[in-house]
Amino acid sequence: MYTTAFEYHRAATVEDAVRLLATYGDDARLLAGGHSLIPLMKLRLARPAHLIDIGRAAELTGIRPENGRLVVGAATTHRLLASSPAVRAALPMLAEAAEGIGDVQVRGRGTIGGSLAHADPAADLPAVVLALSAELVAVGPTGARVIPVDDFFHGLMATALAPGEILREIRFPIPPARSGAAYEKHPHAASRFAVVGVAAALHLGDDGGVAGARVALTGVNTHAVRASAAEGALVGIAPGEAALDAAAERAADDLDLRDERTGSAEYRRHLVGVYARRALERALVRARGA
Ligand SMILES: Cc1cc2nc3c(=O)[nH]c(=O)nc-3n(C[C@H](O)[C@H](O)[C@H](O)COP(=O)(O)OP(=O)(O)OC[C@H]3O[C@@H](n4cnc5c(N)ncnc54)[C@H](O)[C@@H]3O)c2cc1C
Repeated sequence: MYTTAFEYHRAATVEDAVRLLATYGDDARLLAGGHSLIPLMKLRLARPAHLIDIGRAAELTGIRPENGRLVVGAATTHRLLASSPAVRAALPMLAEAAEGIGDVQVRGRGTIGGSLAHADPAADLPAVVLALSAELVAVGPTGARVIPVDDFFHGLMATALAPGEILREIRFPIPPARSGAAYEKHPHAASRFAVVGVAAALHLGDDGGVAGARVALTGVNTHAVRASAAEGALVGIAPGEAALDAAAERAADDLDLRDERTGSAEYRRHLVGVYARRALERALVRARGA
């Protein structure tokens, strides 16, 4: 299939991209790695008359430490995330999730910003940014605003980004000592998208008990969500085998799981328990070693 005809624009800066978006309005779409948008265009599910390429805007690419955070430009590729020593050291869960995305071509072109803005219900990074308490910075005609990740995902491929806004960067707080996080997924055999993915982040107190827990799921419904029952079961406990089992069992509590061709709701519920247990165990090992 071919796409419908479109005019190509290359934005050199964020300012350029915002201006072009304002000029072409609903007829325009941003293009980052193109690994989600171009397939949609070939299927004629998207027919933008103007494509604004932000993939080569230098200010959107790269990873830098800043005030106790790691700031990742929205057009940073999955490959860069997976291979960055700074990400591997501070946020190993983010590197391992990026490394498990698709194949080498997808990781070489696809970007974190494209993945979050597209908000595919089976994408890996939405769960990871939720568990890591990230903040997202969007820029529009009236300037920049910061969106806490808990407010970002709204529904099926729907986010807090307003028309005319571009996601500029994702800010990850660098976790304090005795913190650990891990991502585990059941990948779809063909695409490697998550049939179910679980991102778990734990912080231990001085006594070794769980002082903080964030557990997030992808693949389960229209968008990535926190597993609040599992989080509640973890905080304040002395983590051991039985406690992790009990928390993992509760990870799908209160969730309406999707039931479609990649897996029934019952199968997904089972997978959530299995992968939550694995993610929690690895997160705990990392927290104890950190
Ligand atoms: C074969 C295949 C396998 C894949 N496997 C996986 C997988 O295992 N796990 C996984 O998570 N994903 C997977 N993906 C998706 C891949 O990670 C995509 O690259 C990603 O979801 C979208 O990123 P992109 O840079 O390609 O975005 P694009 O396709 O360029 O854009 C996607 C959407 O986001 C918008 N957008 C892009 N950047 C911004 C921005 N900075 N601000 C605002 N809006 C923006 C675009 O306008 C568009 O609507 C796979 C894709 C393919 C083709």
